[in-house]
Amino acid sequence: MSSDKISKVLSHQYELNDPLHQLFDAVRVISVQGYDDQRRVIYWNEGSEVLYGYTKAEASGKKLEDLIIPTYMRQGVIDAHQNWLKNGIEIPAAEITLRNKSGADVSVFSSHVMFTNQYGNQQMYCIDIDLSDIREAEAQALFKQHMLETIFEAIPDLFFLMEKDGRIIDYHTSKKEDLYVSPQQFIGKNMSEILPDEISKKFQTHINKVIKQKEMSSFEYDLTMPQGISYFEARVAYLTEYKQIIVVIRDITEQYKSAELIRHQAYYDSLTLLPNRFLALDRLSQILIEAKRTNQKAVVIFLDLDDFKKVNDSLGHEIGDKLLVKAAHRLTQVVRKEDTVGRLGGDEFIVLLKGFSNHNDVLTIAENLLKVFRTPFKLAGRELMLTLSIGIAIYPENGNSASDLLRNADTAMYQAKSLGRNTFSFFTVEMNKSMQRRFEVEEQMHAALERGEFEVYYQPKFEVNTNSIVGAEALLRWNNATLGNVSPNEFIPIAEHTGLIITLGEYVFNQALGFLKHWQQCDKQAYTMAINLSPRQFRDQSLVTNLQKSLQTISVNAEFLELEITEGVLMNGQAYIHESLAQISALGITLSQDDFGTGYSSLSYLRQYPFDVLKIDRSFIHGITTNKPDCDLVKATIAMANSLGLTVVAEGVETEQQFAILKRLGCDLVQGFYFSRPLTATQLLKFSSKQ
Ligand code: C2E
Ligand code: MG
Ligand code: MG
Repeated sequence: MSSDKISKVLSHQYELNDPLHQLFDAVRVISVQGYDDQRRVIYWNEGSEVLYGYTKAEASGKKLEDLIIPTYMRQGVIDAHQNWLKNGIEIPAAEITLRNKSGADVSVFSSHVMFTNQYGNQQMYCIDIDLSDIREAEAQALFKQHMLETIFEAIPDLFFLMEKDGRIIDYHTSKKEDLYVSPQQFIGKNMSEILPDEISKKFQTHINKVIKQKEMSSFEYDLTMPQGISYFEARVAYLTEYKQIIVVIRDITEQYKSAELIRHQAYYDSLTLLPNRFLALDRLSQILIEAKRTNQKAVVIFLDLDDFKKVNDSLGHEIGDKLLVKAAHRLTQVVRKEDTVGRLGGDEFIVLLKGFSNHNDVLTIAENLLKVFRTPFKLAGRELMLTLSIGIAIYPENGNSASDLLRNADTAMYQAKSLGRNTFSFFTVEMNKSMQRRFEVEEQMHAALERGEFEVYYQPKFEVNTNSIVGAEALLRWNNATLGNVSPNEFIPIAEHTGLIITLGEYVFNQALGFLKHWQQCDKQAYTMAINLSPRQFRDQSLVTNLQKSLQTISVNAEFLELEITEGVLMNGQAYIHESLAQISALGITLSQDDFGTGYSSLSYLRQYPFDVLKIDRSFIHGITTNKPDCDLVKATIAMANSLGLTVVAEGVETEQQFAILKRLGCDLVQGFYFSRPLTATQLLKFSSKQ
């Protein structure tokens, strides 16, 4: 057929369907095509142009199978069309994939009608609806579904879909064994029927919150699972359009445990597992806030184990550590559950008590703390005795802040130490004052030696039987412009603490030995010089060599030198002390135990160390005339010293009666105000020359 003829046929056929075509022409979203019995295009609306890309002019007269039918369908379409024409078998409406002008697939829902026009021509009309958007949406939905399934698989989290009231509609999990109860037990149920009351309430609170605020909300909770307590984080979100709740639950047990561990390490002492300094002080601050609010007292108890260093040094740190653990345990037994026992470091502990109103209650606790240490500790097959020194500061009397109270409790603890250990002491304003004074003394002492503020005084010693001077004790004096005369009882311990005692000690040695030389020469007497030695001086490695050097330089014979040592030196129990004493003794220097009777195991020291002289403390001499036990003690001491071959010196003899008793008891030497106060070198020279 020529093209001219075709157009004639077409126009002829077209005209006949005009009203319908006018309707189709107006529709862009639906493709309507008309075909004659040869499947040539007789109608092609705008919708077809849009869908298939051919213009009406391009499509007109072309065959259906040449235009939009993919090759593989070609024969099928021709046959089906023929079949319809000849046998009246309709081509059913269907979703099919056709082809556009550029060869791309076009998904359509295609419906067909066949009718015969008034000229008897059979015409097939195809109405194709573009399905590509729907297909795409379906593909997207499918993709999303696959993606979600993969995510659910890959993420260890649990997903729940719930109604607003907490009824569980659906869930997803990659590990069913992680579920609190089996799905059969919870699907369709309200979570309040499954979860513990407190947790389901928490969920409901957050559900209500997300509905109101339209923002995700999260919280943490814990559940007792068959394998123990597990920790979870729940994220709750609201699907506004569906009015449903999505809950994502993550198991954070591992995370929680490691965070807990870090927290624990930061706040607790790893050895005793007690709160560390940081946590203890934090608790103290909390306690103080509460105490301020409730108008109650709070108590800070500072504890220090006595001589703990000795345990470490003699038995080793391992035993020391074990002892600390046991000690910590005992401390916790004394206090109430709500009180805090913390370790501040080393052998220092702290006890914090709250809700107190009465000082006596605190006293009881302090006594109990001491008492609980009275039973020996059993360790490594030994029984070890350990005592405590306790300092107590009370809020609000002794301070308002945590740091003030801690410092004051510490000060009180030192007070307890100086009271002889194994005891407690309360912080008082007086104590605080004495600490302030200590600070001042320390400051003033700094350059006092250079300023020439020190002077050595000498107190003569007398032989009881002959009443003659046998020697003197060197006693240091300090006169300071600001502080006036400061007693050695006050400045010696401070010099010990600051280390100044080493240079001070050397000064005393040189002064005293120099004077001794001069004194001996003047009076032509074999006087002795007693010099006091402090514990710290023993720690000085060069003590013995320095002594030897001084003796040599000044050319004084060692036999004229006597060193007075208090128990403080011996209590350290260090090997080097033993050694130093042995060396000193070997040099021919006399060793004297000073202040005998004030410590608690003096007798064993006498046996242990090479002493030649024993000086009975003046407190006993003071009581000798009035107090029978004192007198008995002095008597026994003299008898014992005599039998050990030790010379006995009574210090602090103030009266004639005291002297008379001492003489009767067989004391060898005396020293005291009754005979002479400590004198300057010049005064002593004058004094002794008159004798
Ligand atoms: P100490 O070694 O027991 O010295 C005896 C103390 O008793 C001296 O006090 C002395 O003045 C005092 N005294 C002597 N006779 C009497 C008396 O009849 N009645 C009374 N009530 N007291 C008497 P001082 O000089 O105040 O010394 C106190 C302590 O300071 C000394 O006790 C000694 O341990 C220490 N000390 C003094 N000078 C030195 C020194 O150069 N080096 C060292 N390391 N310690 C020293
Ligand atoms: Mg002395
Ligand atoms: Mg003394």
